Amino acid sequence: MLGTMMHRPLRIADILTFAAECHPDGEIVSVRTEGDVHRTTYRETALRVAQLAHALQGLGVAPGDRVATLAWNGYRHFELYYAISGIGAVCHTINPRLSAEQMTYIVGHAGDTLLFVDTTFVPILEKLRGELPEALRIVVMTDRAHMPGTTLDGALCYEELLEGQDEAFDWPEFDENTAAALCYTSGTTGEPKGALYSHRSMVLHSLIVPISMPTVFVPGRRILPVVPLFHVNAWGLPYTAPLTGASMVFPGAKLDGASVFDLMDREKVYSAWGVPTVWLGLLGEIEKRGRLPEGFGHIVVGGSAAPRPMIEKFEARGVDVCHAWGMTEMSPIGTTGQQSPAMAEWPKDRLIDWKSRQGRRVFSVDFKIVDEDGRPVPHDGKTVGELYVRGNTVIGGYFENASATAAAMDADGWFGTGDVAHITPDGILTITDRAKDLIKSGGEWISSLDLENVVMAHPKVANCAVIAVPHEKWDERPLLVVAPVGEGPTKAEVDELLLKHFARWQLPDDLVLVEELPLTATGKVSKLTLRRQFAQYQLPEQRAAV
Ligand code: AMP
Repeated sequence: MLGTMMHRPLRIADILTFAAECHPDGEIVSVRTEGDVHRTTYRETALRVAQLAHALQGLGVAPGDRVATLAWNGYRHFELYYAISGIGAVCHTINPRLSAEQMTYIVGHAGDTLLFVDTTFVPILEKLRGELPEALRIVVMTDRAHMPGTTLDGALCYEELLEGQDEAFDWPEFDENTAAALCYTSGTTGEPKGALYSHRSMVLHSLIVPISMPTVFVPGRRILPVVPLFHVNAWGLPYTAPLTGASMVFPGAKLDGASVFDLMDREKVYSAWGVPTVWLGLLGEIEKRGRLPEGFGHIVVGGSAAPRPMIEKFEARGVDVCHAWGMTEMSPIGTTGQQSPAMAEWPKDRLIDWKSRQGRRVFSVDFKIVDEDGRPVPHDGKTVGELYVRGNTVIGGYFENASATAAAMDADGWFGTGDVAHITPDGILTITDRAKDLIKSGGEWISSLDLENVVMAHPKVANCAVIAVPHEKWDERPLLVVAPVGEGPTKAEVDELLLKHFARWQLPDDLVLVEELPLTATGKVSKLTLRRQFAQYQLPEQRAAV
């Protein structure tokens, strides 16, 4: 027997309409690329989003069209999130740290018809223009006075598009499973893969996350998303914050410790969200100045494991550290390690131990750990295996990529995370390793296999492997290990080859020549052995610092 309740489609636009009415004074503070600080409210933003929606329709954007953004965290980027999805189109956020090759690929794969770009990234686009589809139109996210002189033919000006548009918009109703946002993530090999979120999945994610962090999502509380809007929807904050009335402070382009400290101090940010690399910079600044930014009391650390010493240092200064784990494929939040009031009584060591783990699953995401044969293993806090997930906020497959989908999903429809973990009987997740052959540097992926494929083409290379070595600032950096032909290539020779395909920051930090690479029983290079062998390896920059 079915219930007799109404069924109304879950729509992203309703979040902002709700915020404008029920949290009208909730703020969005943005450090702009123009150099100043911009302040607005959810009420005012809803009016501009309506204008932008009219402008998009005026440019011919139709339901299902993909509209790309290449931008920092700021109010205009936020407006695009709502206006694009609100009219039934798809907001495709592009990560500006991708290599030129990857960027060209994803614009083509997504089928973007229009691209919104911050002034900072105009030079990147100018270089790429020849490779991008001719029909792709470009809008620069600024006003007329700040429009850069650009070689981009016919580039439009964001503020001019909004001028004179109606401040009311009748948001269309459509199936809640309609696609709303698209974000690409690196694969272990080959091209990036797209996670295509729906209105339903995003609204559910926005409802699920605040209940696992109730002290953060309070009207007027100020949250700083350092995590980029181009990286999995800034962990959902552009939806969660307005829904709950929390305010947002967008940091723009300057993410060094001193800039983040000053911004947090000035704007009295309570909760700051981002990857460990950013927080190490902030910690350095806190230690230098001998105090916390005013109002700072909470931090969410994710994207990579939160290092224990970092947790200890924040906690020692009274900052509540919440460790979170997730993935692009999970919208992204899968777990949170939010401290409960009772834990305030725990001995310090016990609390830090607890916070060093990845926390508990959020509602509606299920976990299973499987062994090498895909059989579930017990959640006993000891038995380790690959973590599989299932839920309303998890992808059911990649966007138009059947082979990547087939590789990621098991026969029962669970998604394989590529993370190796164990779970306690009371649901605490600990990530112990990574099954996927990828390196995560400062929160961004580098594919070891893609690097290896290019290096293998060098005539002085017999065999090679790229592995992650621990790095204090970046968490991990790539090291290239080569079994040479003859004397082997120099680092400069290899770099020259790699730079044709990769961004400079993705290149290995060092090259080591070895007589032979360790092999597994099946004849593949044993990355496990290599990682152990080079666990203490000092990269040139680290050696210089000693
Ligand atoms: P991304 O899709 O770029 O957000 O990366 C997701 C991956 O980052 C996960 O599958 C993990 O390998 C890693 N990751 C994210 N958060 C954490 C965390 N808190 N601890 C350890 N690894 C993490």
